[in-house]
Amino acid sequence: MTRTLVFISVLSLSVILLSFTKDDKQVPRATIKTLIIDPGHGGIDPGAKGDFSTEAEVALAVSLKFGKAIEKEFPDVNIIYTRTTDVMAGNKRTKDEGLRYRADLANSSGADLFIAIHCNAAPDLHHRQLTGYKTGTVWVGKGKKKRKVTKKIPQYRHWTTPNPANGTETYIWAVNKNDAKINSVNKTEYYGEIDSTGSTTLELPDPSDPLEKARMLIYAQQYFRKSLNLADLVERGFQAQGRTYRGGVKQRNDKGIWVLQATGMPSILVEIGFVSNPEEERDINSDSGQEEIVENLVNAFRAYKQKLESKTIGASQ
Ligand SMILES: [Zn+2]
Repeated sequence: MTRTLVFISVLSLSVILLSFTKDDKQVPRATIKTLIIDPGHGGIDPGAKGDFSTEAEVALAVSLKFGKAIEKEFPDVNIIYTRTTDVMAGNKRTKDEGLRYRADLANSSGADLFIAIHCNAAPDLHHRQLTGYKTGTVWVGKGKKKRKVTKKIPQYRHWTTPNPANGTETYIWAVNKNDAKINSVNKTEYYGEIDSTGSTTLELPDPSDPLEKARMLIYAQQYFRKSLNLADLVERGFQAQGRTYRGGVKQRNDKGIWVLQATGMPSILVEIGFVSNPEEERDINSDSGQEEIVENLVNAFRAYKQKLESKTIGASQ
């Protein structure tokens, strides 16, 4: 009898202690206290180039306006920028160091959300047209049989035109290759980040490494659904504004969006438009275009924050 009582007391004490420990733990907050805004590229890395602007410039301008708008509406949210001027994040000397700095800054500041702003680009289209023939002499044959002949040589006119690709794309980290296939991105269709970070030496997570596997599982359980939710709000908003819809939220797990998998929090990468499309380049550089983009980002942030606070998106979903 006494032993049973002692056992029960020890058990209940353990339960109480455990519950305290649980409360003390860093349980994911059901709100956003710290937001990381990451203007892509910068300094030595201009990113994609348009006729008169670079991805780094546009991303910075929109990021700063977005931050100001958040500050105004949500004064309690602490905003951390990965850069506020045209430098590589953290004043680093290489793109890889810059990416690591971005991820380390986000992780060490215990941020609740990471939003990267980028621009897209697609290569010029090449054209050629036969304009006529020119008579010329060419050598044919080998050795002693080598002789000169007169030949008609076709003449071509070559020119390029800007790629008409336009619109927005919002990316989230695909937890595994199967997920990436659900909404796979055709590499020939996607240019921006592959071009600009293609030379990265940063490692992608190796699912056979137990530590990486554990981290990917945490991401899948805690951040994937939230990232998807926010990305979907952003894309739907852009669509409602009449921006070209390129198929909704996209999942990738290549090096181009390395920073998304390196941050231990919900994270999205927004491609706000194509600098390679002349009309869209003008729009994303204009005050009215940037205000519209910022308005959509703020709307998505507000809706996402409300969902978190009302617990309509949680860790288990
Ligand atoms: Zn970029």
